[in-house]
Amino acid sequence: MTGNFHHKLVIIGSGPAGLSAGLYAARAELQPVLFTGMTLHGQASLTHTIENYPGFPDGVGGESLGVLFQQQAEKFGTSIVYDQVTGVDLSQRPFTISTYSQVYTADTLIITTGASPRHLNVPGENELTGRGVSYCATCDGWFFKDKHVAVVGGGDSALEEALFLTRYVKSVVIIHRRDALRAGQILENRAKNNEKISFLFNSVVTEINGEAAVTHLKVKSTMSGETQEMPIEGVFIFIGHIPNSTIFGNQILMNNNGYIIVDQRMRTNVDGVFAAGEVADPHYRQVITSAGMGAAAAIEAVRYLDNQ
Ligand code: NAP
Repeated sequence: MTGNFHHKLVIIGSGPAGLSAGLYAARAELQPVLFTGMTLHGQASLTHTIENYPGFPDGVGGESLGVLFQQQAEKFGTSIVYDQVTGVDLSQRPFTISTYSQVYTADTLIITTGASPRHLNVPGENELTGRGVSYCATCDGWFFKDKHVAVVGGGDSALEEALFLTRYVKSVVIIHRRDALRAGQILENRAKNNEKISFLFNSVVTEINGEAAVTHLKVKSTMSGETQEMPIEGVFIFIGHIPNSTIFGNQILMNNNGYIIVDQRMRTNVDGVFAAGEVADPHYRQVITSAGMGAAAAIEAVRYLDNQ
C-alpha cells in the first residue's frame, strides 16, 4: 500500500492555495503531488483581469497568473497530476486518496478544493445552462455579442463580470434582490457610469424560460410581489459560492455552510490534514489570501512531518 503511490504530501486542488502550497512544500523537498481537479488553476483563472494581486500594477490575466503559479511550483519539484480526487479515507494512516484512475496514500494532506458557483435553483436554470445560462462571463461572454443579457447578484463578482460583458453585449441589466449593492465602491462607480449597464433592485429571478435558448426571465419584485416577464437572451449568475468539501463528508470538521474549519495554522481537526483557500475561507476569498493560506499550510505540513 505504501509503494509507488505513497507520498509525504498530497495537495488536492490547483488554485492559488494549492499551487502556493506546492511551491513551498517543493522548496522544502517534500516532493509534493498535486491533483488538479476539474478547474485547472481554480476559479481565479476564469477571471479576465486581476487588478488586486500585488506585483502586477497593470493587472494580470487570471489564466496567465494560474500558469505562472503552476510553472513556479513545478520548477521546484511539485508533481502535477491531471486527475480528480473522488474520495479520501482519513480514518487511518497513511491517509488514502482515491482518484478516477488510482489509489494513493499520503502522510499529510492539504485540501485546497476551492468553491463552486452557487445556483439560483429556479425552474429552467439547469435545463438552459450552456444555452443562455452561464456562471462565467470570461468563458461565455463572446457568444452574446450584441445581445441583451442579465446579470444576477450584487457582489463584486456580479459587477466585475457585468463590466466585462459590456465589451460584447448591447446591454446588461443587473438584477439584485436588495436595494443596496454588496460590491466595493470602485466597481459600483464603474458600473453606474457605464451606459450599457442598468440596475433592477429589489427583484428576484423566479424562472428562466426558453426552448432552444433563453428567451425571457420571470422577475418578481420583493416590494410589490408583482411578477414581470423580461425578454433577455442570456443570464449570468454570480450569487456567491459553495465550498467544494462534499468528498470529505463527515471525516473532517466543517461549519454549517460546508467550509472546512481550520485554526490559525491551517490545521483541521484531523492531525496531519490541513486546508487552505476558499474551501476553508468564508471571509476573504481573494487570490492573495488563498495563496497565503496555501503557503502557511505547506509550512505547517513540513513542521508536522519534522515532528513525527
Ligand atoms: P458575494 O460577495 O457573496 O455576493 C453574492 C451576491 O449574490 C450578493 O449580492 C447576494 O445578495 C447575492 N445572492 C446570494 N444568494 C442569492 C440568491 N439566492 N438569489 C439572489 N441573489 C443572491 O459573492 P461574490 O460577488 O462572488 O464575491 C465573493 C468574494 O470574492 C467576495 O469576498 C468578493 O469581495 C470577492 N471578489 C473580489 C473581487 C475583486 O476584488 N475585484 C472580484 C470578485 C470577487 P445580498 O447582497 O443581498 O446578500
